[in-house]
Amino acid sequence: MPHIAVVGAGMGGLSAAADLARRGYRVSVFEKETSPGGKLRQVEVGAATIDAGPTVFTMHWVFEGLFRDAGARLEDHLTLDRAEVLARHAWPDGGRLDLFADRLRSQYAIKEFAGQREAAGFRDFCRRSASVHAALRDSFMTRALPSQAELIATLARRGLAADGLRAMLGTPPWQSLWRALAEHFHDPRLRQLFGRFSTYVGSSPLAAPATLMLIAHVEQEGVWLVRGGMRKVAEALQQLGESGGARYHFDTAVSELVLCNGQCCGLKLATGEIIEADAIVFNGDANALAAGFLGRDAVSAGMPMARAARALSAVTWCVKAPTRGFELEHHNVFFGDRYPEEFQNIFERRHIKPQPTVYLCAQDRGAATTGAASGNADSGERMLLLVNAPADGDTGGIDDERLATLEQEVGELLSHCGLQIERRAGDCIVTRPQDFERLFPGTGGSLYGRANHGAFASFARPGAATAIPGLYLAGGSVHPGPGIPMATLSGRIVAEKIAEDFA
Ligand SMILES: Cc1cc2nc3c(=O)[nH]c(=O)nc-3n(C[C@H](O)[C@H](O)[C@H](O)COP(=O)(O)OP(=O)(O)OC[C@H]3O[C@@H](n4cnc5c(N)ncnc54)[C@H](O)[C@@H]3O)c2cc1C
Repeated sequence: MPHIAVVGAGMGGLSAAADLARRGYRVSVFEKETSPGGKLRQVEVGAATIDAGPTVFTMHWVFEGLFRDAGARLEDHLTLDRAEVLARHAWPDGGRLDLFADRLRSQYAIKEFAGQREAAGFRDFCRRSASVHAALRDSFMTRALPSQAELIATLARRGLAADGLRAMLGTPPWQSLWRALAEHFHDPRLRQLFGRFSTYVGSSPLAAPATLMLIAHVEQEGVWLVRGGMRKVAEALQQLGESGGARYHFDTAVSELVLCNGQCCGLKLATGEIIEADAIVFNGDANALAAGFLGRDAVSAGMPMARAARALSAVTWCVKAPTRGFELEHHNVFFGDRYPEEFQNIFERRHIKPQPTVYLCAQDRGAATTGAASGNADSGERMLLLVNAPADGDTGGIDDERLATLEQEVGELLSHCGLQIERRAGDCIVTRPQDFERLFPGTGGSLYGRANHGAFASFARPGAATAIPGLYLAGGSVHPGPGIPMATLSGRIVAEKIAEDFA
């Protein structure tokens, strides 16, 4: 069988490797870091292991499908607990709102929080986002990148009467998410809350298409907590690939892709060793190819991305510290005021506004689940705090002075919302856009590839195939987009494409 080399053991690379291995290909994965997962990183803070990357695990049907098709069962590899509280949201004026797995419970909570009219708006928003999701799931998300005409034809084939097509006509992609939310919510706090879903794909709610409301539906279908931490997801995919015969080489950076007669025929490791392959799947950011990180020959396979087109980066703090004053859930969001300004500042003025929104994942909360080392009131609990930032990690990023003021602003916002974190020296690891650029070269620190801004952004991502025969792409920077499940789907799409091409 042909030999397929996969560069990168992020979710896209891991799922491509597992899917190709079960189809019988010889698969070798080369990863520059010492373990699988890519952005699913963990860091050690003292004796505690803290998830430093993604924490919201959704669309578990994607993983069930990957395992089932390989003749395995997801539940034999991963233990998932469904979160009853999707997230706890707080505002400095004392407002607090939980969203629940049970939609009616959320509707009731919204009524208590903001009144009957907003609760009715939520009910209608849920229906609308569910219809958009139903329309796009099988026609766009799980398929190879269609053209706009192909997508319209697929939707039309399903019939004008279909809910999905009606939803798409009622939610055109040229309408912004922000504007669509105003049709459902009058309370600006609820627009903030539901607009924030666009940041799951690194985008501004002001510029993201209204169709991204489907992310709200994805959360309502279920958020799961992964026992042992998020890295277990990557390890499970590696095990699945190994059971199909795939081989994994960690601490092994690839420095160049090798072309023979215009076709990708191998790769060169940083050690100088050449590995021959019949096809390559590149799981780093597509922009890394265009920027020449994998050699001059591979540049034409990438898609150059202007700085302004980059999705969000972040500043993250992995902290182990005692907390008081606020009953944290597993997922928590602390909102400041003037939400639109936060995105105008990041995307247009390239800086973080004072008192930005803070996401906090309290990793010892929510179920008796998530980590190796649990916290307690005295020794502290394990947390990831995240603030959105411009993806300027290749041109300076966030300097020490700004980081110090940012930490102060974050502390003030949390304390206005009632939360005190009792920080001590050495209890924290910070990651800034410049660190993300180092970890994920060619991104500028963007964590989600290209921003999903404007009506046609979803079609502007590269697909699985490139201009160079034998070179394919998988990961969050390519179709169908970023996020753990979407990157996993991209790996499946690329495996399918390779099987078609070799057939
Ligand atoms: C802080 C943070 C929070 C997030 N939160 C969420 C969340 O809650 N939920 C969610 O679903 N998603 C979230 N995401 C997004 C999600 O993590 C990513 O979209 C997804 O994991 C990307 O997977 P990928 O396939 O693109 O691979 P990546 O994770 O980008 O990994 C690519 C791999 O390729 C390797 N590589 C690159 N170049 C080379 C080379 N030359 N040689 C060898 N190896 C190479 C890298 O080392 C890396 O391991 C978050 C991301 C971050 C960073």
